[in-house]
Amino acid sequence: MGKIQELSEQLANQIAAGEVVERPASVVKELLENAIDAKSTKIEIFIEEAGLKSIQIIDNGEGIAEEDVENAFKRHATSKIHRRDDLFRIRTLGFRGEALPSIASVSKVMIETAVAGAKQGSALILDGGKIISHKPAALRQGTKITVEQLFYNTPARLKYVKTLQTELANIGDVVNRLALSHPEIAFRLVHDGHVMLQTTGSGDLKQTIAGIYGLPIAKKMLPIAAENLDFKLSGFISLPELTRAGRQYLSIMINGRYIKNHQLNRAIINGYGSKLMVGRFPIVVLEIQTDPLLVDVNVHPTKQEVRLSKETELQQLISKAINDQLREQVLIPQVGDQL
Ligand code: ADP
Ligand code: MG
Repeated sequence: MGKIQELSEQLANQIAAGEVVERPASVVKELLENAIDAKSTKIEIFIEEAGLKSIQIIDNGEGIAEEDVENAFKRHATSKIHRRDDLFRIRTLGFRGEALPSIASVSKVMIETAVAGAKQGSALILDGGKIISHKPAALRQGTKITVEQLFYNTPARLKYVKTLQTELANIGDVVNRLALSHPEIAFRLVHDGHVMLQTTGSGDLKQTIAGIYGLPIAKKMLPIAAENLDFKLSGFISLPELTRAGRQYLSIMINGRYIKNHQLNRAIINGYGSKLMVGRFPIVVLEIQTDPLLVDVNVHPTKQEVRLSKETELQQLISKAINDQLREQVLIPQVGDQL
């Protein structure tokens, strides 16, 4: 036998997990994206010990059919894209077929799922990516997935995990952004029995902002809207008096996907001109709609970085929309808030 051999599926999954599953919050992100892609209207997230003991997500989405459940944990297996062309018109959050096998390879997973019209549900248990059992389960449309003992078989990764407080803050951040990008879904995050966050799912962005940042802040946010031939912007911005010390209150969504993009952050700040104090950042929730052809999401396994065509035009549109709204406000004095 030659020296070069194919890795076992399990080892390949663990290697992929290194990129996809960096910390408990990455598991929460991937599982929530799956629940959103399954058209859920209500998603509950139960976390124990900042996700290291257990992460459970219960959705009321489409569920997975009996014959598909085991395939969902195979590498590069996905229901979301099939042909090369699909890659250029991605409307779902997932498409790489990597999350479930990666997560399962570094934890103990239980999944219970059923599709509409099925006679019964199915329950699958995996340990380190290996299927332990596959049985019928009670009928309840949607999916309940539980991830326990994350990184139990990858000690180096476990060591890299920060304090429980930091990990929990990261989880909160992920849920915040996904809830902001989907006001039409009711989210509830419970940590060790305490409700940390709850949104109504009414579809109203301002109500969602209230659920996340609190009503006093939501009340002070101003709407913005603008469009050009390629992009349509909507969302809410804070007055220059209402700022925070970090950029984590800048949320940018493109076609329902939360993204990280320095240039667009900069465009937001530029829109405020000289009105912001040094080191202070506004609270902004920006939703951008565009043709998926202009957005390349296949840049990084976590899909948070995207490549945008016509990015300069988008930057200008954002800066101008913010600047216009703030200029109008000069005429209406407001009480400041420096929380
Ligand atoms: P991807 O999301 O990139 O397709 P995943 O590994 O995250 O890959 O999931 C594999 C497949 O399992 C998905 O394509 C989907 O068909 C199914 N799936 C996973 N989670 C859910 C869920 N909560 N509800 C319905 N189907 C799901
Ligand atoms: Mg996925």
